[in-house]
Order: sequence, then C-alpha cells, then structure tokens
Amino acid sequence: MSDNIIKTRFAPSPTGFMHIGNLRTALYSYLLAKSKGGKFILRIEDTDQVRLVEGAQEVIIDTLKMTGIDYDEGPGAGGENGPYIQSQRLEIYKKYAQKLIDSGHAYYCFCTAERLESLKDDKGIGGYDGHCRDLDPDEVRKNLEEGKPFVIRQKMPLEGTTSYYDEVYGEVSIDNSELRDQIMIKADGYPTYNFCHVVDDHLMGVTHVVRGNEYLTSTPKYCLLYDAFGWERPVYVHLPLLMGKDSEGNVSKLSKRHGAVSFQDLVNDGYLPEAIVNYIALLGWCPKDSNQEFFTIDELKQAFSIEGLSKSPAVFDYEKLRWFNSEYIKKLPDDEYNAKALPILNELCGDNINTEKLAALLHTRISVFSDIPEQIKFVTERLDMDSSLYTNKKNKTTPESCKEVLIDCLPLLTDAPSWDNDSLFALLKDYAASKEKKAGAVMWAIRVALGRQAVTPGGATELMEVFGKEESLARIQQAVSELD
Ligand code: GLU
Repeated sequence: MSDNIIKTRFAPSPTGFMHIGNLRTALYSYLLAKSKGGKFILRIEDTDQVRLVEGAQEVIIDTLKMTGIDYDEGPGAGGENGPYIQSQRLEIYKKYAQKLIDSGHAYYCFCTAERLESLKDDKGIGGYDGHCRDLDPDEVRKNLEEGKPFVIRQKMPLEGTTSYYDEVYGEVSIDNSELRDQIMIKADGYPTYNFCHVVDDHLMGVTHVVRGNEYLTSTPKYCLLYDAFGWERPVYVHLPLLMGKDSEGNVSKLSKRHGAVSFQDLVNDGYLPEAIVNYIALLGWCPKDSNQEFFTIDELKQAFSIEGLSKSPAVFDYEKLRWFNSEYIKKLPDDEYNAKALPILNELCGDNINTEKLAALLHTRISVFSDIPEQIKFVTERLDMDSSLYTNKKNKTTPESCKEVLIDCLPLLTDAPSWDNDSLFALLKDYAASKEKKAGAVMWAIRVALGRQAVTPGGATELMEVFGKEESLARIQQAVSELD
C-alpha cells in the first residue's frame, strides 16, 4: 500500500449469470474504491474449468457497463497488472507455488485418488492427513522424474492460531490444528481459488478485499499464504448474506425460489438498472448520517463508507424494489420513458390506438414495464361489461341515466369537429350544461362505456383520444346495446 491508493476488485467466476448477490459485491467493492479516489479491478476467475458457462463472462461485463460500475483495469480495459483472466496466468501461479515449496510452506503430494478416498468416513467426509508433508526430497525428485501425477499443497502450521481483523465482522481466529493442507495447484496444473486469488490480489496491488461472507472462515488460510510470501495482508471486508423471503415468510439464502435473482432477469422483467443499483446498495449498507433513500451511482460514490455496512443478513424484498422502480420510472424524462414503453405498446395495440397518449397516461401508473400488458388489457380487448359499474354514488349515476347520456352523445361525438382531449371535454361539458346534468355524470357514463372496467388510467376524454374516433364510437354503441 505504498502509494496509499485504495485498490479493490471484483473477481467473479464465470459460472452462471450475474446473481444479485454478486452484483452487490461488485457494487460495494467499486464504491469503496471510488469513495476514496481509488482504483477498481475486474478479474475473471475461471480456473474451475468444469463449471464454466459459455457467455457468462460477457454477461458480467455487460452488467457492469449497464450499472455504471466501470473498472479501471480488467478484460477490455487493460492495465499494467494483466492479464486479468486467471486461465491466462497459469505460469505465474506455478512460479509462486514453487517459491512456497522452496521456502518450506508448500509441498508436492503424490497421493492417489484411491488413497484420498480411503481417508473418508461413511458419510464421505474426511480431510487430508498430511501423508506427503514430510516426504524425503530424494523421493520427491524420483517421483517427479517418473512423471507421477501430483498436486501442490499448502503446509499449514500444526499449532497456534491464525487471526485477522475483518472490517465488518471484527476479529476472526482459527486454531491452526483445524486447517487442512489445502491444494494450491491441482493435478491438471490449474491452481485452486484458494491459492491463485491471493497471488493475484497481491500482484495486482489489491489493498481491500470485499466479498461474500462465505469466505470469512477460510480467510485465515489466505492470511497464512500472505505471511508465507512475506506480503502485506489486505484489509478484509466480508459482506452479510443476502436472503430472500418465501410466500410463507420463511427466510433463506436468496435463490430462484424467491423470484428473479439475476440482474438480467430483473431487467427483462422491466426493472431499470438505476433502480436495481439503488435498491441493492441499501441491502446491507445505509448512509451514516441521513435517511436518504434515493441515490445515483455518483451520490453513492460520495456517501459510501465501510462504517455503514451491517453484519446482519439483508432480505431482498421484491415489493420494495417495485416501489423503487416505480419512483424511477416516474422520474424518467419523457423521451427515455417512451423509448421503453412505446415499443411494448406498439406491439400490443392495433394501428388506430394512440399509443403515445396511452404511454403518457401510464407513466405514473406502472411500477415495472412488464406491468403494461395487464394495465392495457382494457385497450387490447373489449372486456366483459358489468353494468353495475354505471352506478356511481358521487355522480348520482345509474345504468339508466348512463344509457340516456350515451344515446345523446353518440351523434354529438359522431359530428365532433376535432378529436382531441380539450375539444372533446368542451363538447361533453356543453352537453352536460344543456341537459342540466353534472359534467362528472356524463364523463362517468362515457368512461365506463369505453374502458369497461372500474378504474382506468385517464378519464373519459383522454380515453377517447387513446381509442380514436372509430373505436370510441363502436364501444359506446356496444355499451348502449348491452344496456337494452
Ligand atoms: N471467484 C470467487 C467467487 O466468485 C471470488 C471470491 C473473492 O472475491 O475472493 O466467489
């Protein structure tokens, strides 16, 4: 930490899609660096070749782009500590593993799969027994010359304790006697996560390791690697678990059974990246001296600090996310909102529907874009009519009074000189005055006849504008005949 610049990283394994928990880790790691004017790295941890998923790396990179989490070093961004994809760094890991063998902190292990299997109990549980820890150097040489398969293991101390301080969880200690001699380099020459992330974090100058708390108790092993190399340990920031709540109120680790859990699925469901980022920023963190809930990513960079992190598990609440999203949709400028809403509306509505007008009516009424099809069913279909909808106490309307209004208005509307909200409103108001009716009673009759449901976005004349003249008149006609 020579130049005092904070450096953090996000180190996902491309083994699936971007889970919300991973995105939160990326976000906090990024915010920690940026809150202190530091640098942020993306490193792809793809050494578990069996679990690789095609396209997952691209999804990670796209997600970071869409959420505004921009990295200073990493695939595509370059940087002086590359390559940033672990499978391209195999020689580096071998070199550093050799250093630990030379210094007595690691050793070759030639145990066969059968022998390791025999160490397990009935339940298949059993750790390594240190069989090759103290092999005679001549035997090691001979085995290597004979080309015997091997792994390289970390030589754990047999006594004492290893401790470190975690910024969220405090002091973490473990008895060294509980530590198994874990594999650093596998038989296929690939390193394990347990080893190579330490080498990379050091070589890449990472000062603060931010990650999920599933690594809390294995971190002493990583600390021992730093110590063995004589490297300065990083600051550790382990994050609380992210939980989900099922329909019965039971809380467990956030998974598919709770709903969409990947960033992409949430986006496909109509959530805005800014709203997702804002919401997940608050899942385990809150600002120190305020109750502020709405944050842009730039505001988060200002406000974030480790002290605001909580160690209690955070529960992902889809309702709360919906609420955030609806607030973000409301704040969207019309052109951005239309760019998202209009394609959906144009696909669902016939040519005669004024989708721009409909979009405007929905702007403050949807929580997610995927609400649109349901919200506009009354437009895309002629719903079954329930004639009790014509009865409205406030406007003193009944099916009979509404029928009279509809019959009167049909010719007036047929002859309407123009079909926009203001002129239609004036026309109906004049009609109401001429009949000494309340304007509200006239509007009620027309709105019900057009929308055929209790609540519609927009009133009678707005709906007429949405439907256009032909469809409006057809709907009023149909309503009249249904009232016979
Ligand atoms: N590749 C590890 C994971 O995806 C990274 C853990 C870490 O950040 O150190 O869980």
